Amino acid sequence: MMQFKELALNKPILKALTEKGYTIPTLVQEQTIPLVLDKKDVIASAQTGTGKTAAFALPILQLLFDKQDASKKGKKIRALVISPTRELAIQIEDNFKTYSRYTNLRTTVVYGGTSIEPQKDVLKKGVDILVATPGRLLDLHKQGIVHLDFIETLVLDEADLMLDMGFIDDIKKVARLCPSEKQTLLFSATMPYKVVELAKTMLKDAVKVEVAPTSSTVKSVHQLLYYVPKPKKIELCLHLLRNTIKGNILIFRRTKYGVDKLEKTLLRNGYKVASIHGDKTQHLRQEALQQFKEGEVAVLIATDVAARGIDIKNIDAVINFDLPNVSETYVHRIGRTGRAGKSGISYSFCSADEKEYVLSIQKLINKHIDVEEEHPYPLDPKAKPEIHKSPGSKYKKGRKSVASKKKKKRWY
Ligand code: AMP
Repeated sequence: MMQFKELALNKPILKALTEKGYTIPTLVQEQTIPLVLDKKDVIASAQTGTGKTAAFALPILQLLFDKQDASKKGKKIRALVISPTRELAIQIEDNFKTYSRYTNLRTTVVYGGTSIEPQKDVLKKGVDILVATPGRLLDLHKQGIVHLDFIETLVLDEADLMLDMGFIDDIKKVARLCPSEKQTLLFSATMPYKVVELAKTMLKDAVKVEVAPTSSTVKSVHQLLYYVPKPKKIELCLHLLRNTIKGNILIFRRTKYGVDKLEKTLLRNGYKVASIHGDKTQHLRQEALQQFKEGEVAVLIATDVAARGIDIKNIDAVINFDLPNVSETYVHRIGRTGRAGKSGISYSFCSADEKEYVLSIQKLINKHIDVEEEHPYPLDPKAKPEIHKSPGSKYKKGRKSVASKKKKKRWY
């Protein structure tokens, strides 16, 4: 097996890695690091959990280290990482800081939703690496605080999610503001057509790196399917929490409204829970994550976008309270458990109107999901999908709260 030592990284970086206990590069790291060091453009399909952050952070640090600025004052931003969400951006910054602790390279992160002034202060002091969400980055550029004229490497992380979130014009603008002679690295969990098209316009002679998570993720997770009438899902959830599922549990729901509703019900039933979704402030989201990571609460309820890319270890079980209508999302969700050789378990609740999702998920993972029939709330096999009394009304309210409409912020 390959070791980090063989990857042409310098001593300070290797020292930080050793301290973290990382000796063997992951597959995506093994493949990507030499390419980045070779100044190639790279398009990598890798999701969170594969070690993709270090796959770009380590070689970027190495490249910058080789020609470090002598003085702190005159530092110019030479590497820029664009991330779709604040949590991810913070996580990436954290990674850079960990790996660069024995160098003089400085990293900072900027994102919206919080005061801009402290971010300006840090930037004015000079940084080598900037991690940013697109909106705040452009804002700071417009104000003349951020200069992108010296960017040598541009990273687009979670490109598929950035496109889904409507950042395409922002990304293109950022790329135009950077010098044309630069290295571009694009990372994406999935590779839909629009990501490939974006890569064609932004990358030059890009080398492809693919680490397929699907089969390995799916293999290491014991997946169970429960057919259950929609109104009985909450009872089934409580039943399983009481009798079957133990440990740290991540529950996915499709809508923010659904997340809030389930959180209230579980709280009423005496469970310690926290939740994350796009209508919560940055502070509340961080707090919820922290509580879950530190074991103060055993249950975290999340929407897909809020949970995307967030690195939470030691999840024992994932509950798909609602089935996702996009099959890849199912793989991402269950991939949260059973990481790094550990076995995990997933429980998926399927009501009559979600049966078609099961079919497409099974097609994607090329596997039949085991059906658990022994439970108190079985679904009549002949049950028809339920029609909403007033179509979509409740649902719509949940997707955008009055507060979020007022603030006119984005929906994630
Ligand atoms: P990522 O896919 O970048 O979110 O990384 C997932 C997790 O794996 C993070 O907690 C990393 O710190 C960790 N990690 C990254 N590279 C390695 C490695 N070579 N060995 C062990 N753990 C790693």
